[in-house]
Amino acid sequence: MNVKGILLDLDGVLYTGDNPVPGAPEALRYLKKRGYLTRFVSNTTRKSRKIIESRLLALGFDIRMDEIVTPSVAAINYIRSTGLKRCHLLTTVDLRSEFEAAGLLHRDRDADWVIIGDAGDNFNYGTMNQAFRLVQEGAGIIALENDRYWMGSDGLMLSAGPFVRGIEYATGKTATLMGKPSAEFFGMILREMGLEPADAVMIGDDAVSDTGGAIKAGMQGILVKTGKFSSGALALADPGPTRVIGSIAEIDTIL
Ligand SMILES: [Mg+2]
Repeated sequence: MNVKGILLDLDGVLYTGDNPVPGAPEALRYLKKRGYLTRFVSNTTRKSRKIIESRLLALGFDIRMDEIVTPSVAAINYIRSTGLKRCHLLTTVDLRSEFEAAGLLHRDRDADWVIIGDAGDNFNYGTMNQAFRLVQEGAGIIALENDRYWMGSDGLMLSAGPFVRGIEYATGKTATLMGKPSAEFFGMILREMGLEPADAVMIGDDAVSDTGGAIKAGMQGILVKTGKFSSGALALADPGPTRVIGSIAEIDTIL
């Protein structure tokens, strides 16, 4: 595979739950040594980049915050570009702090945007109904991600997608998607890296958000069998991944 840049998913590729994938720190060192440009592209919307960076460090990964790209980064850029800055954040408290640090303050009324991330336990009838009412009153919906589920330390966990769909269903409006598999999101990352899509590959454990989205954006896609990988999801994937490998530890066999 002849590429210059590598986009790597985090959850399910470098770690699952609280454990690094065996051989993953060595695989990253191999990629750095070979001189590839790397970005770590996560749809994780529970945590700010600062928290993600310190967690990666604790797991044995030497990754700088400016190499980490999350949907929050794209959403903050997007909201600023619209000039409409009144935000209602249906997210974790940590993610709310990332928006507030960028000058986008959370409000409960008169919102231009309802921003939905993986809010975890902050998803409940009251918070969903408040988001529903704000959208009914005219706010647009921004989905930080639209994934169905992810692999937690004790089993599969609902991601933001089912809740985004719920608000869309109730209001008849469509969310603007910020994270993977949005082609605009991949395009923003590649422009910042100075690469053409054909020069880059995405490595992930999700055949839709990671490899499917990357291939639709003109890149190649390597699916790993760690994390939430399932052969059923692979069989349904359209487009399917360019390559499938057991784990990131095998990356030296193709790159
Ligand atoms: Mg993943």
